[in-house]
Amino acid sequence: MLKGIYPGSFDPVTFGHQDIIRRSAGLVDELIVGVLNNKAKSPLFSVKERVRMLNEVTKDMPNVRIVPFEGLLVDFARRSGASVVIRGLRAITDFEYELQMAQTNHKMEPEIETIFLTTSLDYSYLSSTTVKEVAAFGGDISQFVPEFVADCMKEKMNLKGECKL
Ligand code: ADP
Repeated sequence: MLKGIYPGSFDPVTFGHQDIIRRSAGLVDELIVGVLNNKAKSPLFSVKERVRMLNEVTKDMPNVRIVPFEGLLVDFARRSGASVVIRGLRAITDFEYELQMAQTNHKMEPEIETIFLTTSLDYSYLSSTTVKEVAAFGGDISQFVPEFVADCMKEKMNLKGECKL
């Protein structure tokens, strides 16, 4: 059984992530979407909220599981029994960082391979960061994220509390 991990911050999940998840799920028997709880960053959404949003986005994908994790990706992959890490590549700007990460991970755990899926043309410009910037200035983000994520974002921006999904 081939298990893959698609790790990321998903703060919040966008149509670009959803596209990579759907395509990756078709390549492996089980896909674990690893939601990084990075204590050094201060995300807009809590891990709990990000997991809930991802569960909603993947509810029609039976071989996808959403799992939060902390620490090294290779440790998480080993613990999960995954042999493949999947990352999305948008533009040349992603490449340098991704290459470095993939090679570092391969040094630490040669049994785990990183594979890259190139972004679909429709989403190549899309990032969680720009979505947050647009939303912060009251812009319409409905083309970038599912409706419930946009609603959650509005709640977050207005109340700064936990958003109910
Ligand atoms: P990180 O914080 O680790 O960069 P992100 O949550 O931003 O994580 O993204 C997780 C993964 O999804 C990364 O491999 C990133 O390149 C990819 N990704 C993000 N947005 C898109 C997109 N629009 N199209 C394809 N891949 C994307």
